[in-house]
Amino acid sequence: MIQLYIPLNFLGVIYREIKQSLADMERLFGLLEQNKEVDDSPGAQPLHTTQGARVAFSNVDFSYDPKRQILFDVDFTIPAGTTTAVVGHSGSGKSTMSRLLFRFYDVNSGSITIDGQDLRDVTQESLRQAIGIVPQDTVLFNDTIEYNIAYGKPGASKAEIVTAARAASIHEFIESLPDGYSTMVGERGLKLSGGEKQRVAIARTLLKNPAILIFDEATSALDSRAEQAIQAQLKEIAKNRTTLVIAHRLSTVADAQQILVLDHGKIVERGTHQQLLAAEGMYAQMWERQQAKKDEELVET
Ligand code: ADP
Ligand code: MG
Repeated sequence: MIQLYIPLNFLGVIYREIKQSLADMERLFGLLEQNKEVDDSPGAQPLHTTQGARVAFSNVDFSYDPKRQILFDVDFTIPAGTTTAVVGHSGSGKSTMSRLLFRFYDVNSGSITIDGQDLRDVTQESLRQAIGIVPQDTVLFNDTIEYNIAYGKPGASKAEIVTAARAASIHEFIESLPDGYSTMVGERGLKLSGGEKQRVAIARTLLKNPAILIFDEATSALDSRAEQAIQAQLKEIAKNRTTLVIAHRLSTVADAQQILVLDHGKIVERGTHQQLLAAEGMYAQMWERQQAKKDEELVET
């Protein structure tokens, strides 16, 4: 159900975008799927993140379909202002964890809290205000690049937009376009590369300035130079924010304060990069395999 407080011009956007694509996680969660699976509970209160947004998953079990459990007793805390990375094979349940933190679905048992407030007791609007997502695959609106960035903060001034674009290292690229910030982008406009789209998503998130960040890392969409540049920016935005990174490349998680290794929906290892290497378990194996691949790439080029 679409709630009445959504301004009318938003509705037009929603209908256009349903047709266009469902791939942008934040839009998907924030607009299209709002209230589809979950509702505000009676008496839901706005979320307060005055303590800097400590995130806690407590004994979380989850299944999309009652016949197949996806997460098993997932239990961890992200201290306020720190980064926790989740690694694990495809299908292990990493993206599901981020969907639960955004309360796209409710847990079957256990709980998720932010600064002690159960997600089921706060309004969805306030929850989604507090969380910024840089998705794996950003789909742009068929509108100007300025509009696409400003989407992170309706009513943002041009100066704020430019500041965000600079911080996301996309300002100079935009200035080089024929119509600058007024250039039309998206399916029916200028097509941007994977890395450029992700920078737009980063600029949007910077404008939104959320207490909590979720990154679902891109993989093959980016060449490794573009990827490195983006990693540096993500690290910059993650500073002093509570961050959950779903990581495909282990090299990008090595300096997270905590790394969780997820295997078939269970946390099987946890610790810092150094601790996990010393444990010589699954993480150490994944690390070695990726290092080996990197060496191959270096030999080839
Ligand atoms: P990861 O991000 O680690 O690759 P996901 O969290 O996306 O894994 O998926 C975990 C498991 O849940 C997979 O087996 C996937 O097929 C299943 N799954 C994901 N989304 C849905 C859904 N909407 N309905 C049913 N099953 C799903
Ligand atoms: Mg995933």
